[in-house]
Amino acid sequence: MEQFWQYAYIIAAVLIVLSIKWLNSPVTARRGVRAGQIGMLFAVIGTLLRHEVVSYEWIFIAFLIGAGIGVPLAFLMPMTAVPQLTALSHAFGALAAALVGTAEYYREFPTGFTMGALVIETLLGYLTFTASVMAFGKLQELVPTRPMTYRGQNFVNLTLLVIAIGIGVWLIAGGAPTWAFPAFSILSLLFGVLLILPIGGGDMPTVIALLNSYAGMAAAAMGFALNNKLLIIAGALNAASGFILSVIMCKAMNRSFTNVLFGAFGQVEAGATVASVAKPVKSASPEDAAYLLSTARRVIIVPGYGMAVAQAQHKVRELYDQLTKRGVDVQFAIHPVAGRMPGHMNVLLAEADIPYDRLHEMEDINDEFAETDVALVIGANDVVNPAARHDKTSPIYGMPILDVDKAQTVMVIKRSMNPGFAGIDNELYYMDRTLMLFGDAKAFVGEIVKALPVGVIA
Ligand code: NAP
Repeated sequence: MEQFWQYAYIIAAVLIVLSIKWLNSPVTARRGVRAGQIGMLFAVIGTLLRHEVVSYEWIFIAFLIGAGIGVPLAFLMPMTAVPQLTALSHAFGALAAALVGTAEYYREFPTGFTMGALVIETLLGYLTFTASVMAFGKLQELVPTRPMTYRGQNFVNLTLLVIAIGIGVWLIAGGAPTWAFPAFSILSLLFGVLLILPIGGGDMPTVIALLNSYAGMAAAAMGFALNNKLLIIAGALNAASGFILSVIMCKAMNRSFTNVLFGAFGQVEAGATVASVAKPVKSASPEDAAYLLSTARRVIIVPGYGMAVAQAQHKVRELYDQLTKRGVDVQFAIHPVAGRMPGHMNVLLAEADIPYDRLHEMEDINDEFAETDVALVIGANDVVNPAARHDKTSPIYGMPILDVDKAQTVMVIKRSMNPGFAGIDNELYYMDRTLMLFGDAKAFVGEIVKALPVGVIA
């Protein structure tokens, strides 16, 4: 029984690894979430049973405080606010790692390898904490979302980081004065704030994936400092998956990774423009849309951020059911950065029980638009902007897009001619074959469903 915690750790490690594997596909994702939860439960129980834990009162108080914050957050934050929620959870995780590192430092005053791990843990922990709080503030619009830049900013930031690392090396070597550790911690906290200042609020999801990676590295370093293998495994997995995710997001937006690291994102937003001259567009009614959809052979639906905002996924499911019943072949095309977080569209469509085999990644479905009667764009904008393919002056030039403009007819549901995330006009809307369906996504899709002709078989 005394060694139970070791078995609990092994089970936890296996479940956490399996969880990441299962999260790879929508078919097994639910199982992945459950495996991760049970894995964490084993990790917590195993830790509580270790002989180093001599009393439970403080742990219980901390548990109540943590649950008091976590449970309401999970229920109150809407789906569209998941990036903010993720930023907050990284902030708490990183702060926990940094505080454990600080406590260990003052308890043991270690040097050498253990101090090396502690320095990495506290540096990454504190900087990830403030950076994540800033990211949360920008996403929640509590802090100005525009990039805040000044001349020599990268130089100042790097100098600060180099000084912090210098003090860290001094602490590892031994003989550092008493002010060294507090100074090191304050510089790390400050660096986290400065790191986020030059980055625009819209680019926070990518930064959050990167901060996820930093928080994981802090946890893995904590594992080395405390000689806790489970922390090393879970932290390393977290660090690697966060890093891979941020690279995937950068690629999908055609941004270089160094751009993310050195915070040059703001330039894109500054260069973004909205069309100033009003150009004619063709608009259509729900009845027109219903007629075109019901007489089509093949329809590809392209969801985007607007579908998430409108919570239109259940209405989209009704439309899918009705069209399928009428013999129309309906597929969904998912852009890797549609919405505001990776997998955003997959999660929403899965929630509405749209069959997984109808969802296709961009590379798999792009060639099929040319053979498609109707491409129905629901609240997506940047991810279908053809300017990304040919307009070298466009801020999104080079970003891979869904080729909806190649379909016979394109229908776009959105409320106005306002731009999307990148703040730029979309030439798709002015094409001859494009029909604009102005309205809220949920209401408009609902009206299309009502207007579908009874019993039409394509
Ligand atoms: P988008 O370009 O932001 O466009 C969303 C569109 O939805 C807007 O044009 C808006 O037009 C419309 N909309 C908003 N509320 C609506 C409602 N209630 N009903 C109907 N339409 C509504 O979205 P996207 O095409 O999905 O592209 C995602 C963008 O986010 C990309 O630029 C991507 O680079 C960026 N991004 C994504 C991630 C990620 O991980 N997914 C991360 C970082 C950045 P109206 O206001 O006229 O309705």
